[in-house]
Amino acid sequence: MGIAWFDDDPPPMEVAALRTGGLPLLTDDEPWPSCPQCEVPMLFRAQVPLALTSLVACDDERLILLFECHHTTERGPCDVGSVVVTRGAVAPKPAPSATTFDVAITALGPRPFGVLEIASQIGDVELRAGSAVPMPLVVLRAAPSFLAEEAVRAIFGSGGDAVLRASPPMLLRDHHGGLLVPFDDGRRGLGATTLPPLGQLTEAVGQRTIRGLLGGATPGYRDHAFACTCGRPTRTIVRLLAQQAPLSDVRLGPAVAQLCLQCSKGALYRSAG
Ligand SMILES: [Zn+2]
Ligand SMILES: [Zn+2]
Repeated sequence: MGIAWFDDDPPPMEVAALRTGGLPLLTDDEPWPSCPQCEVPMLFRAQVPLALTSLVACDDERLILLFECHHTTERGPCDVGSVVVTRGAVAPKPAPSATTFDVAITALGPRPFGVLEIASQIGDVELRAGSAVPMPLVVLRAAPSFLAEEAVRAIFGSGGDAVLRASPPMLLRDHHGGLLVPFDDGRRGLGATTLPPLGQLTEAVGQRTIRGLLGGATPGYRDHAFACTCGRPTRTIVRLLAQQAPLSDVRLGPAVAQLCLQCSKGALYRSAG
C-alpha cells in the first residue's frame, strides 16, 4: 500500500498538520535554517507529522520540516536541502528580514510601452516584438533594498504596478493542507488489496494537486537507501513531486526526505527538473 498526498484546505497555521507553504512550526530556540553553502536563509517547503508515515508509533509528536536553498550562484541554482526534526512545543516562526530583493512588474497599467521602457533601463529584460509580456515580469534580481525600492518607484511613476520579493525566497506565496489517500502501489506480500492504483486515484481526486507520496518505496520512484552517519539505514519519509508555485517563479523540483529513526537525523535530496 502506498500513501498519496493531495492538496487540501489549509489548516490553522499553529496546528501541527501536514502542510505545504506557510510558516514553519519551530521550537523557540531553533533558528531559521541557512544554507551551509550559500549562507542565506532557506525556503520553507513543507511540514510532515512523522506519525503520518506509519514508520513510528501514532503518538509520536515529531514534525519533519523541509527546507530548500533557492539561491542562484555563478555555478547555477543551489540544490541544497535540509530537514529539521522538531520535538516539544512549536509555534509558527516568521521568516528573517530579507536583505536582497527581486522586483516584479505585476501590471503594465494604461501606458504599457512606458513601463516596458523603464523595465529595460532597470534590468536585463528581453522582450521580443509581438510576443505577449509574461506577468509577473521580473526586472531585477537579488538587488539591495535601496536599488529595489528605487526601481519600484520608477515603475509606479510610469503607471505600472510592481512588487518586491525577498530574494532568495523564504516562503511560498500560498499554503495548503494535506489530504492523505491510500492507494495500491503494486507491492506484493501484503495480501490482496481493494485499493485502486495511483493512476485511477489521481483521476478520482479530480482537480486536487498531488504533492507527493508518504513513506516507503513506490514503483517508478528511485529509492534512496542512504546510510546515516550512525551506520543504520535511513527511511523514506516523503517523496515530493515537482511543482510550479503559483504567482511566483519559484521552481520546486522533486525531492526525497530521508530520516534515521535511531538518531533523528534527516536529509532532503533534491534533483533538477
Ligand atoms: Zn545554497
Ligand atoms: Zn543515525
